[in-house]
Amino acid sequence: MHDLTFFYPEGHAAHAEPGHPESPLRVEALVTALREAGWWEAYPHLPPLEILPQVLHAVHSPIYLSLLKEACARGGRLIGDTYLTPASWELALQAAGGGLAVAQAVWQGQARRGFALTRPPGHHATCELGMGFCLLNNIALAAQSLVQQGAQRLAIIDLDLHHGNGTQDIFYERGDVLYISTHQSPLFPGTGNLNETGVGAGLACTANFPLSAGSGDEAFLAVMDRLILPLLGRFEPQMLLVSYGFDPHWKDPLGSLLLSAAGYGALARRLADWADAHCAGRVAVFLEGGYHLEAGAACTQAVVAALLGLPWQDALGPSPQPESQAWRSMLQRALQLWGL
Ligand SMILES: [Zn+2]
Repeated sequence: MHDLTFFYPEGHAAHAEPGHPESPLRVEALVTALREAGWWEAYPHLPPLEILPQVLHAVHSPIYLSLLKEACARGGRLIGDTYLTPASWELALQAAGGGLAVAQAVWQGQARRGFALTRPPGHHATCELGMGFCLLNNIALAAQSLVQQGAQRLAIIDLDLHHGNGTQDIFYERGDVLYISTHQSPLFPGTGNLNETGVGAGLACTANFPLSAGSGDEAFLAVMDRLILPLLGRFEPQMLLVSYGFDPHWKDPLGSLLLSAAGYGALARRLADWADAHCAGRVAVFLEGGYHLEAGAACTQAVVAALLGLPWQDALGPSPQPESQAWRSMLQRALQLWGL
């Protein structure tokens, strides 16, 4: 078994809009950081798998899929608030297929951990609509595919700055996929309140931990140790899928959270250790957002070091601003709501 496997989105630079923060440079900065650490060449890279129509249609509505495909074929411009190019449909399918390749390799025991550089990103894409720079929901398509291959309980932990409204929407009424999100609130897309916890068969299978601006390492680690890990223990997932955005970093221009790269590494280490103890070490990480390239390089090295169980030094250090403590009241309410 490999310790780690990667996916790289070949040709992804054809999905780009001049001056837009969701730029191809994001992925290239992470590749450079992984290469400098000696990991990029050390572990196998997987080609994308085909996303089967029955998986695609279980996650996204046929109307949205044909709208997206036709909009790209006509030359592309915009779908909702999100830019398109003529290449975007094929690249979105490729990103989803690459995320699936990595997740499936981990699920089937060919690799212990996976890291998919999924671009275009996915977690804002709902059943019905691409938004927030996301076209197809990569992590949801991978989870759905694993469910169709026999997985009974999967957990998606979304650590992006923004709430993964699309992923929540897709699994909101389902009991087989636990969705847990930390995110800055209030902020785009406006969803992810503490009291959004799923409905029907999905009741208590969605958990949201909104963090006020100024929350940093202390807040994230408290939420991880006191809420996320206990909820994983309760749900007993067979694998962890992580929506990894590096935009909670204190240098990110779109957010006001104060997470450090070392803090991100500590979060990933907690999840990797949990997986080692409870689900054969199965962790697959999917790239979502993150807009400061230097922060992205540092967070990515920190996360991959954590997945590999290696030490790592954070040259960017902690936020120069002090952490707000306003998150403590959310933590107390969350502990009460979840009976923890
Ligand atoms: Zn984000």
